[in-house]
Amino acid sequence: MTIFAVYKKLEIMRKRILVTGGAGFIGSHLCERLLNEGHEVFCLDNFFTGNKDNIIPLLKNPYFELVRHDITMPYFVEIDEIYNLACPASPIHYQYDPIQTIKASILGSINVLGIAKRTGATVLQASTSEVYGDPQVHPQVEGYWGNVNPIGLRSCYDEGKRCAETLFMDYHRQNGIRIKIIRIFNTYGPRMLPDDGRVVSNFVVQALRNEDITIYGSGAQTRSFQYVDDLIEGMVRMMNTEDEFIGPVNLGNPNEFSILELAEKVIQLTGSKSKLVFKPLPHDDPKQRQPDITLAKEKLNWQPTIELEDGLQKIVEYFKEYRYRN
Ligand code: NAD
Ligand code: UDP
Repeated sequence: MTIFAVYKKLEIMRKRILVTGGAGFIGSHLCERLLNEGHEVFCLDNFFTGNKDNIIPLLKNPYFELVRHDITMPYFVEIDEIYNLACPASPIHYQYDPIQTIKASILGSINVLGIAKRTGATVLQASTSEVYGDPQVHPQVEGYWGNVNPIGLRSCYDEGKRCAETLFMDYHRQNGIRIKIIRIFNTYGPRMLPDDGRVVSNFVVQALRNEDITIYGSGAQTRSFQYVDDLIEGMVRMMNTEDEFIGPVNLGNPNEFSILELAEKVIQLTGSKSKLVFKPLPHDDPKQRQPDITLAKEKLNWQPTIELEDGLQKIVEYFKEYRYRN
């Protein structure tokens, strides 16, 4: 094949892709992956929890476009695919301005679904394991409707994401919009903010600084931690499934750990002198969480490949380097 023919082929295969929340932790990894695949990427973000540092290396790519915009306001663009990630995800951040959080999920969904309706784009919603609330079914299967407090401190996030799923389904049924819904379980990795507030980044940063490790409650509650590269692979596979498969599909690592076990692993890995301190358990903190990924295995031929120890090592290296950069 001549160089010209290769170039032509790339041109035909190149999609125009909008990533809302693209300057955030997951969004920036996704933008990078999509650019590496040769696509044109529009990264939309209002920088509430996003960080320009996450995307500075991408700015030199002529197929990358940064858009400062709040997705609660309408936005117009000609596009083939949309990944809708714009929403603060850490409890301290989404509870900081709960009204803006629920608007990000609901108005944000209406706006991206509107773009999809006008352009015919496929739109993928980054939903969450939080739709299962404090689950009474374990591990969580997609068919489980959840156990969510509609009036608690976490509701702005949980109910916003649940309503977003409803909007996606109704736009699909009523207007034939091509949708995909993924339910992401706790994900960690480089580019989380040091003050993000979520457990993995908190523990790693505290351990590296030899500060107390803050265990909320007894630490017996469990989570299943997924490394970001595994998630990105699952997201891209989901977007590329046949139109008939819309999900929702769980994307998470089924290996379940208590928060105490996580703290011990982080201390061991960093050789930290940190001590454990016990703080009150936040409101409606789920007691357990573990994805059933049978559906993802079957439909996406996907399963996580990165063990917690290996992923922790990568985020430890990232935060060690981050200290020198800031
Ligand atoms: P993050 O906070 O790093 O990323 C969210 C991004 O959205 C940020 O860049 C933020 O500035 C941007 N944003 C927020 N409100 C916006 C608005 N109104 N308009 C435009 N941009 C806005 O968090 P993350 O962990 O990367 O999460 C990304 C998505 O994945 C979120 O939708 C989150 O709910 C979902 N998710 C994440 C996890 C996880 O464990 N990381 C788990 C489940 C679901
Ligand atoms: N957690 C903790 N110490 C921290 C931060 C979080 O013990 O410094 C606990 C938190 O109470 C929860 C779990 O770790 O039980 C996961 O919290 P995170 O905010 O990361 O995610 P989510 O609760 O949304 O799953």
